[in-house]
Amino acid sequence: MGKRVNIPAGDSARILDAVTFLHQVADDNPPLLGRRVVVYGGGDTALDAARTARRLGATDAVIVYRRNQEHMPAHGEELEQALGEGVTMRWLSTINQVDVGTIVLEKMRLNAEGFPEATGEYEEIGADSVVLALGQDTDLSLLTTAHDIHVSDGVVEVESDLMTSGRGIFAGGDAVPAERTATVAVGHGKKAARGIDAFVRGVSPATPVKHDVAAFENLNTWYYSDAERTQRPELERVRRQDNFEEVVMGLTERNALFEARRCMSCGNCFECDNCFGVCPDNAVLKLGQSGKYEIDLDFCKGCGICVHECPCGAIEMIPERI
Ligand SMILES: Cc1cc2nc3c(=O)[nH]c(=O)nc-3n(C[C@H](O)[C@H](O)[C@H](O)COP(=O)(O)OP(=O)(O)OC[C@H]3O[C@@H](n4cnc5c(N)ncnc54)[C@H](O)[C@@H]3O)c2cc1C
Ligand code: SF4
Ligand code: SF4
Repeated sequence: MGKRVNIPAGDSARILDAVTFLHQVADDNPPLLGRRVVVYGGGDTALDAARTARRLGATDAVIVYRRNQEHMPAHGEELEQALGEGVTMRWLSTINQVDVGTIVLEKMRLNAEGFPEATGEYEEIGADSVVLALGQDTDLSLLTTAHDIHVSDGVVEVESDLMTSGRGIFAGGDAVPAERTATVAVGHGKKAARGIDAFVRGVSPATPVKHDVAAFENLNTWYYSDAERTQRPELERVRRQDNFEEVVMGLTERNALFEARRCMSCGNCFECDNCFGVCPDNAVLKLGQSGKYEIDLDFCKGCGICVHECPCGAIEMIPERI
């Protein structure tokens, strides 16, 4: 559900919210926006709305955002794509008033904490419609009778395994306090699945150990083949003007597999067996595919060869406590 904000507006001013607008377009029932469309917001939804308006025939698709590019929550490549398609930006601006055919913008400045502050400087620009893309509220109507599930600030409270205060009920993605992106939602799905598995088996959820990020100097880059990154095919800009064809195409199965093989697995053992092979004292024990390896400390003399030879920096030497 798109968030609304109270902007002083004349009776016939055309204001709609971005999620409804995008739904209508997806349902093949686009609303009439006119030639000059102003989108208010700074996230991916604002960019989607402006790019969609361009495809529907808007000559001006202007995004009004109260902060600057550095503070914009939208993904950088989405902004780049939008600008390439003729969307324009009004940084450091807020909408003060909407009337038929015009809107009044107020210029903003950022304070030391990066928050926008009003300047009292106004400007009028032409606009046939205003699309509000000010974020979304999660639809929690499903929970109206679930009194044991705690909701705060419009999202569901969860433990670290994503279980809600209702026993055996888990939540994730946009429904919980977190960054609202597709990757976070997918990650939550995986985490919640682990939590559900532990709950059903009656054991405490295992938290996978997070190790430090392997620095570049810990990698042995010679181990990996030198391979150019596969570029995903992109639809030419001129062919995007009046249709909703896919803009950035996916990879073929062959290329996707190739890309996956370019992963250097930084800090994560990928069972190359190097340590097992190079240890002069046979101190590296193979535990089978899932168990990976263990160092038999009764045999290890601490020469560090395995650390040196591990391609991905997965082994760390810790000084012995005496
Ligand atoms: C316009 C727009 C553009 C975005 N662009 C990006 C982007 O470029 N990159 C990015 O990373 N993120 C983007 N996001 C955010 C991203 O889409 C969300 O963060 C992500 O989809 C959240 O996943 P989710 O599984 O929590 O919820 P959703 O993807 O919303 O999935 C919830 C599902 O539950 C279903 N549902 C709801 N109620 C019920 C019910 N009572 N019974 C059964 N099913 C129900 C819904 O129909 C829906 O299918 C965008 C969001 C919007 C709105
Ligand atoms: S530090 Fe040396 S002895 Fe110990 S496991 Fe590594 S290679 Fe083997
Ligand atoms: S720890 Fe390193 S060297 Fe040993 S098997 Fe894993 S990736 Fe290979």
